[in-house]
Amino acid sequence: MGFGETTQFGAAEDYTDKKASKSIVSKNIERFYLSFFDMRSATVKNTNRFYEYFLIKKEDKCLYHCEGGTNSNIPSDRRLESEVFGELQGLIEDNNLAAFNGHSKRDTALGARMTLKVDYSSKESIFIYCEGSSATFPFGFSVSVFSDFLEACDEKGEKIEDISEIYVVCPCCKEKVYIGKAWCGNCGADIKQR
Ligand SMILES: [Zn+2]
Repeated sequence: MGFGETTQFGAAEDYTDKKASKSIVSKNIERFYLSFFDMRSATVKNTNRFYEYFLIKKEDKCLYHCEGGTNSNIPSDRRLESEVFGELQGLIEDNNLAAFNGHSKRDTALGARMTLKVDYSSKESIFIYCEGSSATFPFGFSVSVFSDFLEACDEKGEKIEDISEIYVVCPCCKEKVYIGKAWCGNCGADIKQR
């Protein structure tokens, strides 16, 4: 059996984009998105182990947004200096993230789900998706490198009190929707972002 083919032990499906570029020229991150679900670390007290993070460049600042996870004061919105994108790019290079660009794999096991997307000002991007067991993650990739970095952003960022600049109102159900999202989490309507 070839790599990624279905086996009786766990139906792995490989949707990896083999043409995805393994070298990113730009160093200017415009957006960083990471979401992951970690069932193995769930406890009786805390079953919510879905994390969703956004870093969005706006003017000369970095807007941080986190939903889910162990923090009960969520969603958390913070403003950081844009230097944080330089630090993040360093992490991306140190971990050779571009080498995993296009990786997309899933199997039928329960336990893990992760989406990571980096958008650059050059329109280049890095995209990684895994779902199912830990076997769907690219070999050598560690999500904690990035989740630790994002947790630190939450701690050092300045809390955004006036959220009107980072939320839009859903035209359908009138719920507030974070500017990084393409659809309303409440009703599912498409959101046309500025
Ligand atoms: Zn809505």
